[in-house]
Amino acid sequence: MIPLTDPLELARALIGCPSVTPADAGAQAVLGGALERLGFAVTRLRFGETENLYARIGAAGPHLCFAGHTDVVPAGDASAWHDDPFGAVVRDGILYGRGACDMKGAIAAFVAACAAHLGDGKAPRGSISLLITGDEEGPATDGTVRVLDWMAERGERPDFCVVGEPTCRAVLGDIVKIGRRGSLNAKLAVHGTQGHVAYPQRADNPVHRLVRALAALTAAPLDAGSEFFEPSSLQLTTIDVGNPATNVIPATARAGLNIRFNDRHSGASLGAWLRAAIGPHAERFDLDLSISGESFLTAPGPAVDALTAAITAATGIAPTLDTGGGTSDARFITRHCPVAEFGLIGSSMHQIDERVPVAELRALAEVYRTLLGAFGA
Ligand SMILES: [Zn+2]
Repeated sequence: MIPLTDPLELARALIGCPSVTPADAGAQAVLGGALERLGFAVTRLRFGETENLYARIGAAGPHLCFAGHTDVVPAGDASAWHDDPFGAVVRDGILYGRGACDMKGAIAAFVAACAAHLGDGKAPRGSISLLITGDEEGPATDGTVRVLDWMAERGERPDFCVVGEPTCRAVLGDIVKIGRRGSLNAKLAVHGTQGHVAYPQRADNPVHRLVRALAALTAAPLDAGSEFFEPSSLQLTTIDVGNPATNVIPATARAGLNIRFNDRHSGASLGAWLRAAIGPHAERFDLDLSISGESFLTAPGPAVDALTAAITAATGIAPTLDTGGGTSDARFITRHCPVAEFGLIGSSMHQIDERVPVAELRALAEVYRTLLGAFGA
């Protein structure tokens, strides 16, 4: 049987399951078995093709939830790896394998922290839960969102949730994420009237309209940032006309853009702004918006303070509160309870030879264990 107070062997067992999204490859059975040994009530939740898991021990408050994912991105060119990407080889004190850093290592650290906190057969003072999905790196539709709905129906509402995504930059302890920027994708099609380039008075050139609209959108920054966020950013990603003729004014011109936005905007407010800014330049246009996440912020308070204090106690480092980077499942969890993210150093995530020093893995487990004690769970 795998020892549970040390995260290494469980991390190795999880990496040994090639759970490339949407495959589970036995990863959640390994995790569920470990949690059952600690006394957790484990519920496997399959939604669509996605395996998810919710586990809880304790009935009282305060309720601390650890969240993460057992799926991983593909290994890429396996022959470029020094070892088998799913071999979980330990060499010179470093654990190698797909998911070592993002984020099977952190899941093993959750379990090790719980094992150390609970000791031999002790019940927790409050409650501890784990919300684990098998679809974070994919479309994420049948993952954390569905588990959260399932939890809400049963009145399962944690007081605080810590997501174990790799957040640290240079040393373990340097970054806690207390929010994330939102992300909006827009596809714009500006319509005109097709015609001969020699007779522009009989046509209406949508390319000219599109470039004026895009110039208006990019003329000024969206904002100057806010207390915990860097300025929002609008980036044009493509301009497409696809016109092979040199003597034809086309009927339609298209462009794509992405906005990473801070807490001064919402997807809806940006949609309205885009329409208002494009309108003066284009009488007829279509704008398709997809919002992959709203921005959110968990304001500093007792829960975030407990996390930062645990990090400092376990690592000696005072973390910076940050909101940068891409999106994560925290964007869903924030609708249900306060959420922050803290995990390993992210430099090798999604890369060839993804890895984590074993000492870093153990230090992360110690941060989580300290948090469980400080939070009173
Ligand atoms: Zn991840």
